[in-house]
Amino acid sequence: MIKHHPSESLLAQYCSAQLPASLSVAVSIHVDMCPVCQAKVAKLEAANAKDVFSETPHAPDALNLSNDLQAPDFDADLLDLITADASIDEVYEVEPVTVQVNEHNYELPRALTRISHGRFTQVGKLARSRVAIDDGPLRSSLLHIGAGGEIPEHTHTGFEVTLLLDGEFSDEEGSYVPGDFIWQDGSHQHTPLTKDGCLCFTVVSSALHFNKGLSKLLNPIGNLIY
Ligand SMILES: [Zn+2]
Repeated sequence: MIKHHPSESLLAQYCSAQLPASLSVAVSIHVDMCPVCQAKVAKLEAANAKDVFSETPHAPDALNLSNDLQAPDFDADLLDLITADASIDEVYEVEPVTVQVNEHNYELPRALTRISHGRFTQVGKLARSRVAIDDGPLRSSLLHIGAGGEIPEHTHTGFEVTLLLDGEFSDEEGSYVPGDFIWQDGSHQHTPLTKDGCLCFTVVSSALHFNKGLSKLLNPIGNLIY
């Protein structure tokens, strides 16, 4: 059972479209896998919709329309314009997309099927593919850890979101199942390891800090993960 969920504040920002793209993708993947958060999102979206429709409608002052364009009467006309556009209702079928990493096939979550990702780069038992989300310092990746692999003990100078997509891993806090959404920052340190291997979606905001060992030996791992 999924035990680790995005915080209430993260879910609220997700529902009002205030999250950076990469975090929005991470939350979206989790919500697809988690009935508990699906119910929370449905509630938040209903509350947001209620707020929008209870506001007094008005045309924004800054809107500068030329003479031959009539400003629509924002209460009814705008809604008519939106509902008249049939293309908004178009639903597209999502073909399942699988990735192969070291002989293992994984089906990608729906939210990632239309976002491209690069080839896997391998360092030891770790393999990483960069997900093409252009989001400033936030870097998104698919991270694969082969059976028996581990990431040396580290903390984070920023934050790291790990969303387990397939397989299992554990750290000092316990073990994780697919769908678990793990938020780590400078107040956490951990040594993730996997017995059978796993695939994760990660969002990392800055370089990792390794607590033990020679940093020059660990830098390739750090570069792979950030
Ligand atoms: Zn959840």
